[in-house]
Amino acid sequence: MKRLYIVGLGPGEERYLTAQARKALSDAQVLCGYTVYIELIAPLYPGKECLSTPMTKERERCRLALQSAQAGRTTALVCSGDAGVYGMAGPCLELAGEYPEVEIEVVPGVTAALSGAAVLGAPLMNDFAVISLSDLLTPWEVIEKRLRCAGAGDFALCLYNPMSKKRRDHLRRACDILLETRPPETVCGWVKNIGRRGQESRVLTLGALRDEGLDMFTTVFIGSSGTWEKGGKMVTPRGYEAKP
Ligand code: SAH
Repeated sequence: MKRLYIVGLGPGEERYLTAQARKALSDAQVLCGYTVYIELIAPLYPGKECLSTPMTKERERCRLALQSAQAGRTTALVCSGDAGVYGMAGPCLELAGEYPEVEIEVVPGVTAALSGAAVLGAPLMNDFAVISLSDLLTPWEVIEKRLRCAGAGDFALCLYNPMSKKRRDHLRRACDILLETRPPETVCGWVKNIGRRGQESRVLTLGALRDEGLDMFTTVFIGSSGTWEKGGKMVTPRGYEAKP
């Protein structure tokens, strides 16, 4: 059988790999992915052939993995967090029709929303929305509309890709949109390098988050109207109980 696993590795170190991901990686003859993740995973599974590509070449990476599986070598295409959350599962399945003999299995991983939430406490305890602030594949007007809708719905929010060198002001613009419906005291937080060396986190207000200088290795959490902070932990109530 010609098989391609698309594997979410979780946020960082080996301890975040699920048992299902470990099984797929040991089953594979070929490991394929962005250079940084291949370097992370290859020493744990010695003797496998490795195919790595630079960050931006996502479709090429998918093709490389599909071609490797098509040639009869069980292949694992790896990505960080979950493969189905801003990951490789979508683009790969879009191309899969061209490789009808390859059977694809998507292996879930711990996405940054969940690993980061655990660091901060329980910010996503009730209904929440996940929005990426990257406008590389989504027009900025669409991102703004989704931020407004999430604000109006009083969802707790998790923001991926909060800023990069080229997109310095996206987080500030997102905060300004949320400040239309939420007070500046709204409890927020961010976590950088989740599960990796140099992990850092902070709980702060929406007003302060607006001026925070972050980077693309950070995930941001914005509380709903009920979210509270105590002892550095961020908690969104499970229901309508009073704040402690
Ligand atoms: N598939 C990944 C997301 C890729 S999009 C997942 O499910 O987690 C890239 C964005 O994810 C980053 O800009 C950041 O906001 C977030 N992210 C991924 N890994 C992270 C980590 N270890 N620490 C902090 N943020 C992370």
